[in-house]
Amino acid sequence: MLRILMLAGVVLGVSSSPQPANKPNLCHVISHHFDYDPNGHDGPAHWPELASCCGSTVRQSPRDLPLDSLPSQECDKPFNIQFHNSTDQTGLFYDNGHAPNMAINSASPTYVTGVPYAPEAKYILAGIHFHFSDGSKGGSEHALNGERYDGEMHMVHYKEEYGGVAESVLHEDGLMVIGVFLQGPKSIFAKLDHLSLSYKMPSSRQIWDRLKSLNRHQFGSPDESPVGPLNDLLKEVSNIHEVGKEFGVDVQVDVESLLPKSSDFLTYAGSLTTPPCSESVRWIVMADPVPVTQDALEALRALPAGGHGHGLIAHFSNARDLQNNQQPVETNFKC
Ligand SMILES: [Zn+2]
Repeated sequence: MLRILMLAGVVLGVSSSPQPANKPNLCHVISHHFDYDPNGHDGPAHWPELASCCGSTVRQSPRDLPLDSLPSQECDKPFNIQFHNSTDQTGLFYDNGHAPNMAINSASPTYVTGVPYAPEAKYILAGIHFHFSDGSKGGSEHALNGERYDGEMHMVHYKEEYGGVAESVLHEDGLMVIGVFLQGPKSIFAKLDHLSLSYKMPSSRQIWDRLKSLNRHQFGSPDESPVGPLNDLLKEVSNIHEVGKEFGVDVQVDVESLLPKSSDFLTYAGSLTTPPCSESVRWIVMADPVPVTQDALEALRALPAGGHGHGLIAHFSNARDLQNNQQPVETNFKC
């Protein structure tokens, strides 16, 4: 996830909190360097050698979220997250070499309550970063019903009592990450084209009937135009030309306004998606995507990668492969 998360070192202990998940594995961290080069020494195939948790089979992320086949008893749970101090949140938006990241100013950070299985706890926002690809494949980390979106935003929160991200990765309830799918205009059209091909001579009425029959979470939100606070934040990416905080830009956002209009989400017990892959994350993945402009996607795809002359982040994509996580997926809406 973030470079700062790699400061965790060796896990010395675990907490005991009520969660429907196993305790995290002990993470032995050998190296703090990683990248996404499939043929490189530090690429995803070697991550388990860099940090042992990356090879775990207990609760690794990302994963597919099989919404259409969830048991009904996992749906419509009374989960309801609330944002606090959300408006006028400031931070430094910069390229950390793996992803563009908004490092939250810690003076008055946004925080969230109502987190599943820890509703009273405060989870404090530490950073907001983005996963994407060069467009040749899906750029989101999670998949919904087997399908990846063009990108994914992660809002990384740590549990207040642990005092920061570095300590929180050592606890199974230490982190909460909100994931939001990004849907570019081309993928919306691709879905429409696919629908058209399924009819020999489609009438607008036939297509409309088919659209109405689709689960809206499968199709996205075609009625929402790609404007708004999230696109405004992504516009700032085009002002970031080099890796490092010194090349970052100061930004101010209403954090909650970056989310889709619907508060429907899926949740499960998972991990960081980069080394050390600590199994300490309560994931909250919003069911609806947020539409983003082609310009926003192109700005992300122009960001340089850090490390050994790897060119652009998008070249290999910074989305980890889907993991075989068998922890229950629950929703706060009928499914
Ligand atoms: Zn991430």
